[in-house]
Amino acid sequence: MSLSDRPSVRLRPEIVALPAYKQGKPADASAYKLSSNENPFDPLPGVIAAVTAETAYNRYPDSSALVLREHLAAKYSIGVDQVHIGSGSVALLAQLILAAAGPDDEVLYSWRSFEAYPSLVTVAGAVSVRVPNRPDHAHDLPEMAAAISDNTRVVIVCSPNNPTGTIVTKDEFEAFMAVVPTDLLVILDEAYIEFVTQADAVNGPPLLARYPNLVVLRTFSKAYGLAGLRVGYALGPVDILNAARSTAIPLSVTAQAAAAAIASLLAEKELLDRVRVIAARRDATWQALIDQGWNIPVPQGNFLWLPTGAETTSITEALSEAGLVVRPFALEGIRISIGEEQAVATLLVMSADLVDALP
Ligand code: PMP
Repeated sequence: MSLSDRPSVRLRPEIVALPAYKQGKPADASAYKLSSNENPFDPLPGVIAAVTAETAYNRYPDSSALVLREHLAAKYSIGVDQVHIGSGSVALLAQLILAAAGPDDEVLYSWRSFEAYPSLVTVAGAVSVRVPNRPDHAHDLPEMAAAISDNTRVVIVCSPNNPTGTIVTKDEFEAFMAVVPTDLLVILDEAYIEFVTQADAVNGPPLLARYPNLVVLRTFSKAYGLAGLRVGYALGPVDILNAARSTAIPLSVTAQAAAAAIASLLAEKELLDRVRVIAARRDATWQALIDQGWNIPVPQGNFLWLPTGAETTSITEALSEAGLVVRPFALEGIRISIGEEQAVATLLVMSADLVDALP
């Protein structure tokens, strides 16, 4: 029997049917990559130095990244065991879903939101329940609360929401938590929180003391510019984080990644100055687009959401020809990261014409 004749191996059909994780298209050297919400700034020299100083390549890393956890515990005034580190916050999402939801359990989230949620739920054998975003593209928390059933095991709230950029307010979140059963895990995904400027937005860590079923997810990928090194963290109750730890693939966070994260915390002031530059660029770009006639939700991450509907593909192609690689969601809209100044300038030249293509 030749290899091609062999009977196909029995794989889980729902896994085989999963779409591959769609990564932003790589941009050629002359194009701007605005498709993955990355940080356009180069790493700080001190961060690179911390990574290169970590030379024990032949040794496994500390599996719990204790020193990094100590820094984060001090930053948020919580216990070291209330911090859990993962190889990106997406790894922590996977762990938390696996820890709480098994076959046929429901995981509830707003949609459209982060594309990884549906796949991670399917991998856990659980079922996604999606509540549509409001017409203003924000989460509809009362509708989400109404969709909770006896089978719900996890609710994911994403603020700012990827890809629409909208936030959940503190009041909305607290009203939601007041009606969510306390035995139901709520994950507040704050991957873009550092870019938030709206004063009424929810901010997870101070709420941890009040809600024993809340876990807050954050990452070094966006504001701290370490997407390539893969470090994220979860803050929450020890029992929930211990369960997540039990599902983790051990030793996934490298010593080099942990060292970069620690160096970034030590250089936080400088990095947050950069965040302010990106947030100001975002707000100016949003205002310019609104003045051109675009209808764009108020952006609070490091990206904009253009609801381009049926014109999504044609506008994506036009932007690509102008050297801007963006993230299209067919028939819905386009997400554009706030990148280099020149990229934004090109976008605003293009968008002045493209707005006429919209119905
Ligand atoms: N949550 C949201 C909402 C995101 O957009 C992303 C990255 N695109 C992540 C989590 C995961 O980021 P990372 O794994 O790099 O920490």
